[in-house]
Amino acid sequence: MGVIRTIGIVVLSISFVVFVALFGRLPVFRRTPIAFLHRLLWRHIPNAFISVDERLTGRRVTRSLARTGNYLMNEKHPLILIFFVLLQVVGEFLFIPAAWDRLSINQIAVLPLLIIAPLAFLYLCNTTSSNITSDNHRSAMLAYPYDFALFHPGYFCSTCRFAKPARSKHCSICKACIQKQDHHCIWVNNCVGRNNYLWFNLLLVSTAVLLFYGSYLGYILLDQRLQEHLVPRALTRGSFTAKRWSTRMTWGEYAHAWAWAVAMEWRIGAVMMLAMMCIPLALGFLAYHIYLIWAGMTTNESSKWSDWKEDIADKVVFRAEMAQLRETYPPLPEDVEPLDKDVKWPVGVRAKWWLVRTRDGKQPMRKVSRKAGKREGEGDADGEVRDERWERVSSIAQIENLYDLGFWDNLWDGLFNRG
Ligand SMILES: [Zn+2]
Ligand SMILES: [Zn+2]
Repeated sequence: MGVIRTIGIVVLSISFVVFVALFGRLPVFRRTPIAFLHRLLWRHIPNAFISVDERLTGRRVTRSLARTGNYLMNEKHPLILIFFVLLQVVGEFLFIPAAWDRLSINQIAVLPLLIIAPLAFLYLCNTTSSNITSDNHRSAMLAYPYDFALFHPGYFCSTCRFAKPARSKHCSICKACIQKQDHHCIWVNNCVGRNNYLWFNLLLVSTAVLLFYGSYLGYILLDQRLQEHLVPRALTRGSFTAKRWSTRMTWGEYAHAWAWAVAMEWRIGAVMMLAMMCIPLALGFLAYHIYLIWAGMTTNESSKWSDWKEDIADKVVFRAEMAQLRETYPPLPEDVEPLDKDVKWPVGVRAKWWLVRTRDGKQPMRKVSRKAGKREGEGDADGEVRDERWERVSSIAQIENLYDLGFWDNLWDGLFNRG
């Protein structure tokens, strides 16, 4: 039993360290020991290592590690994806054989579906590309209108040389412009974008379901084990009123009993605890993406919106009515700024305002002939006057999100409007 307990403790410790390393930075853990351990792992221990390396090898080891780290962070490689798959598969190989004899037919029957679903969606997420190519560039351009806030026409990707479609973003890891880019996901080793957003959300849902199921099975099996150990059936003679093992226990005794059960059944116990620890993460991601769908945003756009919010608070944002500005800035050529009627987005849902941020917070100027400038009494030597068409934006509420059609339409668009 000593050996089993030791193995159990080692497995649990490893799971805990992995959990802290990956998720300790999340805001939920701020000002908790988990955040402290995260800093210890990622900052204090590496710093100590660097100073030792400095003395021993003149930083040679650190430099080669940094090169490796750079590769891991900035190049496309499947290591995290492999880790993700291993985490699932190893967990299942540990758990299922240990639990098999005690599971009912029904409990076993749902296993294949729950096990295969996350792997299948992971595969689809990884292999479905939203990259913009010369073949699909035109259809990407027509998918969404420019909102003249986050996305303006006339910008070209300096790497791909394409006109940037609305809602797209160049990914330096995928080395391509991505349609409706959400974020680059290292877990699936691909950008999450227009074509795999469906698979990504199904991956989140199926992973959450699997984690819940693993936790649930682990809990009932260990609970059963505790019941049999602490309240042997022979004593209760199968009576329905038999007391539960935890009756009248203190919290300390309760925790101790569970620690015993986890150590006795370390394969089930360790997987159950890892699953339980990962549930908040899967649910957190899922809730965040439901929020994004509700708000009609991608992850990329949500960070752009928060930049705008800050700039509005700094009073450097101005807006002008599109209809008025068009006098000075007529539409660009049709291949760079598609005609409204060609864009596959509800008719009438088009930019009404043109948004700019200024460097100095002063109203944008417009050039006028000297004569006109003097008449308005504001002209300076260069013949520029304040452009009255621009008004200062004082609140984010004044800006409409063109891509928000309401929850159900956003959901449909996010999941099924694929290129
Ligand atoms: Zn690009
Ligand atoms: Zn990417």
